[in-house]
Amino acid sequence: MIDIAANCQKVMQNIRAAADRCGRDPGEIKLLAASKSQGISQIKAAISCGVRLFGENYVQEAKTKKDAVKESVEWHMIGHLQRNKVKAALEIFSAIQSLDSLDLARALDKEGKKRGTTVRTFVEVNLAGEQTKTGIGEDKLGWLLREVSLLSHVTIEGLMVVPPFRDNPEDMRPYFRALKDLQQELRNLQIPNVDLRELSMGMTHDYMIAVEEGATMVRVGTAIFGPREG
Ligand SMILES: *Cc1c(COP(=O)(O)O)cnc(C)c1O
Repeated sequence: MIDIAANCQKVMQNIRAAADRCGRDPGEIKLLAASKSQGISQIKAAISCGVRLFGENYVQEAKTKKDAVKESVEWHMIGHLQRNKVKAALEIFSAIQSLDSLDLARALDKEGKKRGTTVRTFVEVNLAGEQTKTGIGEDKLGWLLREVSLLSHVTIEGLMVVPPFRDNPEDMRPYFRALKDLQQELRNLQIPNVDLRELSMGMTHDYMIAVEEGATMVRVGTAIFGPREG
């Protein structure tokens, strides 16, 4: 039996401890539960222990869950978003953390305009230039931010990263530090309408390291829900 309540407590405690270690205010770090492949009862158990932010990777799966969960929680898209799913995605998600192209930003802008809302996004960065992964390369980031800043119905709130996996969580630290440095560099550009306050980084394997390196949001699945099936 997986004790989701105990797991949540543990994760929250670990976040506080990591914040304390580096003199950060634990209140500035949000816990997002990555709930892909988890059922409604698992999600409700996490809500019962105070989780208010959920991340999903697939639009259809998220829709089913959102329809079944009546509590007021926020859903974020953390998986790759195809342009033809933008309309459906905006019915569900409060924020898209996987913005990685101008085409997608334009599609979000168009749909946001229709709905009369501004679409909240994080730009997903592909730090290691991995061919197999989504996210935009560092070299194009300044350009993307400038282009998106001109769109009236999309706002960029931060950066998100899924770095290459390293067995030793300590070896993830340079990636997190690199994202924090990028945040600072990009802020120095002072692009109008681009705030970049959020750093969404760290998963089960390494969220404590990510907090030490400045994460404002960690995305934790396995440590809360146990291993995913399939
Ligand atoms: C699944 C997933 C997570 C959580 O992964 P765990 O290792 O289970 O904590 C975080 N971010 C993204 C983008 C994911 O797809």
